[in-house]
Amino acid sequence: MPEGPEMRRAADELAAILLRRKAQAVRFGLEPLRAYESILTGRRITEVACRGKAVLLRFGGGNTIYAHNQLYGRWYVQPRGGRPRTNRQLRVCIDTREHSALLYSASDIGIYDEDSLARHPYLAKLGPEVLDPHIDAGAIERRLASRVFYRRSLAALYLDQSFLAGVGNYLRSEILFVARIDPTLRALDLDRNDRRRLARASLAIPRRSYETGGITNSPANVRRLHAAGQKRGKYRFWVFGSAGKPCQICGSEIARIQLSGRRLYFCPVCQGY
Ligand SMILES: [Zn+2]
Repeated sequence: MPEGPEMRRAADELAAILLRRKAQAVRFGLEPLRAYESILTGRRITEVACRGKAVLLRFGGGNTIYAHNQLYGRWYVQPRGGRPRTNRQLRVCIDTREHSALLYSASDIGIYDEDSLARHPYLAKLGPEVLDPHIDAGAIERRLASRVFYRRSLAALYLDQSFLAGVGNYLRSEILFVARIDPTLRALDLDRNDRRRLARASLAIPRRSYETGGITNSPANVRRLHAAGQKRGKYRFWVFGSAGKPCQICGSEIARIQLSGRRLYFCPVCQGY
């Protein structure tokens, strides 16, 4: 399932072919949206953004296509008229002069004007985006210390999009490992230094994943393991998916537990479990 960095890269690909281009044709696979096809056709795409797992495509004239990826939604970029090999249902197709942007499978799609978009229930409850360059570690630190969140377990907070948007299951394990925090603690149990380390890792790890195409391990480890002939699957993460393997810092066995309904990987020694 895509997390913030994967969503952002998908939005980047869409922006590269759609931004400032005129939509030559817009088609929807969902009947209630068909009335908008003629309204959006001929308009220019003025903004491509992602918020949480939603892609937002704003058109001249003020309408925005909101498309939440849900579990299976997937965007493709093709030369105009091209189609990927897939049995999925086509939900949105936007043709520019040279390209087609295609959304398959997702069904939570709507067209909103400025006011109704601002009130959208999913967007309204999202916390700050981990990949937003305007968010700094101080803001995350204050969030961790705030009454709204500090009694909750970190394992639950780091899956809650109202705490931080864009963190999902692999980022949760990787952030807590890099910050050396016991995943069973609550924010309340952290001292100031813990909070600071966790806040920094909360931004640094998703940003690294975005820049590297999904790698959260340190550049030094990646170089070393790559030079030793290891495949990407072996060096991509610090701990995620590595149950029973030696910790890359201390050599102890990586553990796997279920927390807040999802699998979480951690080093019992480095994270003081
Ligand atoms: Zn360790």
